Amino acid sequence: MIKVLDKSVADKIAAGEVIERPASIVKELVENSIDSGADSIIVEIKNGGKSYIRVTDNGSGIKAEEAETAFLRHATSKINTAGDLNAIETLGFRGEALASIAAVTHTELITKEADSQTGTRILIHGSEVISNIKTGCPNGTTFVITDLFYNTPARLKFLKSDAAEASQIIEFMSMIALAFPYIKFRFINNGNILFSTSGKGDLHGAILAVYQLKEYKDLVKVDYNIGDNAVIGYISKPSLSRTNRRNQVFFVNGRVVSSKVIEKGVAEGYRERLFEGRHPVCFLFIKTNPAKLDVNIHPNKKEVRFDNEREIIELVSQGIVQALSTDTAVIDAVPRVSSAPNLFVSEIKEKKETVEQVDIKQILSNKPPRVAEPQIAENITKPLSEVPEEESKKEEDDKKIGISISEPALKPFDFDDLNPTGAIFNTYITAVDSNSFYLIDQHAAHERILYEKLVSEYMADEKLRQPILTPLVIDVTPSLMEKREQWMGPLTEMGFDLSEFGGNSILIREIPTFMSIGEAEDFVQTYLDNADEGGKISNTVVIDKLITKSCKAAVKAHDHLSMGEIGELLNQLKECRNPFSCPHGRPTFIRMSIYEIEKMFKRV
Ligand code: ADP
Ligand code: MG
Repeated sequence: MIKVLDKSVADKIAAGEVIERPASIVKELVENSIDSGADSIIVEIKNGGKSYIRVTDNGSGIKAEEAETAFLRHATSKINTAGDLNAIETLGFRGEALASIAAVTHTELITKEADSQTGTRILIHGSEVISNIKTGCPNGTTFVITDLFYNTPARLKFLKSDAAEASQIIEFMSMIALAFPYIKFRFINNGNILFSTSGKGDLHGAILAVYQLKEYKDLVKVDYNIGDNAVIGYISKPSLSRTNRRNQVFFVNGRVVSSKVIEKGVAEGYRERLFEGRHPVCFLFIKTNPAKLDVNIHPNKKEVRFDNEREIIELVSQGIVQALSTDTAVIDAVPRVSSAPNLFVSEIKEKKETVEQVDIKQILSNKPPRVAEPQIAENITKPLSEVPEEESKKEEDDKKIGISISEPALKPFDFDDLNPTGAIFNTYITAVDSNSFYLIDQHAAHERILYEKLVSEYMADEKLRQPILTPLVIDVTPSLMEKREQWMGPLTEMGFDLSEFGGNSILIREIPTFMSIGEAEDFVQTYLDNADEGGKISNTVVIDKLITKSCKAAVKAHDHLSMGEIGELLNQLKECRNPFSCPHGRPTFIRMSIYEIEKMFKRV
């Protein structure tokens, strides 16, 4: 029964403005529909929800005599006493959503309970009941909200473009459809059905229905629990990855959240399967004891705090490891990066930051690069048996008898003095000059070469296009299609010829000359992943994509190179502006001076 709460109870509810934008109306209405027990919900919007929002459900309906009460502030059927507040399980409890919505819109309610003969139709304009009549209608409830903020034009001005408002609603609808796969959702935008889920409880089916991406067909199921924590959901195989984590969707106890802790669990579970900077796509539902969870750290309840973070990281990472290990195709397809402790780590981290920043800026500004010398591999060349105390004792002894420990000054590095001698493990090119021995990582070196080539072609004033015989068709999410103005322009400037191809597909007829078809497809896909966030994509992001792309095309470790190919690789590396690190900031070269080698053999 809907009634107005006592003031003492009402005062305990965190009051707040619930209606900021069309998406908040959709959220409140859909959550009410879910609370009403509906298993079918239709949402229709026009102009980003500014001019029209309809939510129709087949839930309990509202009694004729209670329908007007529902619009009063603090009217609810969901709690009676302050004590009930702690035990509340429904989603849409605010006790004032309908009142707030009705205050700033033209609201129409059509509703009927299953055991009533007739339904009720109420019209309210800015909190004022205009009419309340009996009507014939199906069981359930429909709200039609028009003319948002018609009586508060100042607030209307704060709304974003229709496309931007629509995209927030699409985001909400996508998440709620995934969270409730047993409810059939149909979502219509400006007369087009954006998606429609089956309501049969099949989560994978719901993911495919919402995103409409063929590549999501191959997602692997995750289903794992430890104690009273459980994770279920889907994760991509290593063959499908993205350059950001925006395609990682997490729910905790049914609510969509963003969580660094869960992200960490994903990264740990996926470790060694992807190159640095790539992230799997995943949809993970975590169930945990609500008592061990704080959902109030953010007003929108988007962020959560777990009492025991390590427990959740373990749950997610082990769930992922188990999911991937049960899929044999995954194991075979993955080039495994070694997990052995990396002796270079501290050096690399430092270098990554400096080299990467300087590099991009330099290339963009076309100024001469700051060239680093190859690193001297001091800390790796020490024989493992050598104990540091012994060394310092030896140094002291040396001092006593007047021997310097300092290394003779090295001649500056010169590519022209470099003589390749072969390769070891089909991975590291070996080379010498008059005073040092070098190991060159063939993959990292080739990445650097391709990267600089791609960047200079990208920077060229005139982009050359090449028509392709069979145009590419790329499927995008409904939310991206809505924002197409944001990304079609920049891609066209880069040399792509794009057109809409019906539904959520785009057709690519021409691509930049410096890309192969496969690369172009990959590039557009990566670009779109980043466009999903909205806003323009900066050059730095584009360059980041080029890095990833050059990495994919580069020769891999274990690819056998002939001496001729090694020579050519070194010649090209010599022409690079920054030959000593790959675009990710890892070194391409390791140098050991004769002095260091001699030291290892205790000759000096
Ligand atoms: P709350 O959801 O916090 O109770 P609302 O203002 O959102 O407050 O809704 C007020 C009341 O109206 C609800 O408690 C519920 O009884 C009724 N109601 C709202 N929407 C629906 C619906 N779609 N189906 C059935 N009842 C509804
Ligand atoms: Mg509500």
